Amino acid sequence: MVETKVTVVICQAQGRNPVKRQMEEDILTAFIAEPSVDVSLVPHLYDMPHDHTGTLFLKSVPGNLVVLSWLYERATRWTLDRAGVRGQEGTSLIVSERDDDEVIEDEDLREPRGIGTLDVPDRKLYCLDLRVCSNANDYVHEIKRIVGENNVQTVELMSLINGSPKRAQLQRYLHPERQLEARLALDGGSTALADKEALPEDTRRRWYPVIDYSRCTNCMECIDFCLFGVYGVNALDRILVEEQDNCKKGCPACSRVCPENAIIFPQHKTPVIAGANGDVGGIKIDLSKLFGGDDGMSGLDMAVRERDQELVLDGRKAVGISVGVSSRTHDEFDDLMDDLDALDF
Ligand code: SF4
Ligand code: SF4
Repeated sequence: MVETKVTVVICQAQGRNPVKRQMEEDILTAFIAEPSVDVSLVPHLYDMPHDHTGTLFLKSVPGNLVVLSWLYERATRWTLDRAGVRGQEGTSLIVSERDDDEVIEDEDLREPRGIGTLDVPDRKLYCLDLRVCSNANDYVHEIKRIVGENNVQTVELMSLINGSPKRAQLQRYLHPERQLEARLALDGGSTALADKEALPEDTRRRWYPVIDYSRCTNCMECIDFCLFGVYGVNALDRILVEEQDNCKKGCPACSRVCPENAIIFPQHKTPVIAGANGDVGGIKIDLSKLFGGDDGMSGLDMAVRERDQELVLDGRKAVGISVGVSSRTHDEFDDLMDDLDALDF
């Protein structure tokens, strides 16, 4: 029986920004010799494919997990969920700033009514946004606080991982162009993480939607609206992102038509689409929604325009509002226009 270790995974920023690299290195260095923490470094979370070493490593962690990334916490949590990395939501004192101009007033009062995610293990998962603080010490202190919060006597779960992860972590940091190939092998109930010859892995920049199942009601509006075959359903008829590489780079259209604001594009420049808490679409009378988009367009207007642009770029015909927009959304859109008329601008 030993102290529970917390695994800390730092997800690198895209590109080679020296300030961001320094922040990552400072946090890594602070814990490299810390016995109560296993620290590791992986490429950008959103860009790693499901069979990437970093993804496999994240999936191999059985205990409490802290993931730091250059994304909103919500985007990190649901990107991890998509990769099958789940846990009970841990509360951090470092919280992404909200853009009050884009947040509806009753956001915090709304009851979560999503279908939720499945197979959530009984461990804590903390997601920290590396963009919130400019000083690495703030993250170091917060991680230490989390370690203290989880400091109970139990079996050392990380000892199930063989090898010398600390050496590997340093090598990955010092040589980010080389990645260690991790193989998970189940052998009599023990998990082995094998360090193999360093191999290059695919971490090109990606663009695809991530579903927040705490909000998603499985209404299927997104699957109807997207005409590029991105969405599908699983054996339980739950919506999922099936063909992520079919998504059109830079297009966030379906996030604007999702009635629950459950679709996240972590790399979009607009905070509420990138996973900040708040609303996205253009249904209710809300000035941020009416005028938040280009040219004062509503969310639905913008979504239809964005989808049409992608259809035309694909050599297909624009379809406007006539395809994939439900009658419910149509009605709400009409109500919106009536309300706009009543405002008499
Ligand atoms: S439109 Fe939104 S709420 Fe409806 S199924 Fe898609 S993600 Fe879920
Ligand atoms: S952003 Fe566009 S292409 Fe991508 S899933 Fe949504 S509607 Fe489909």
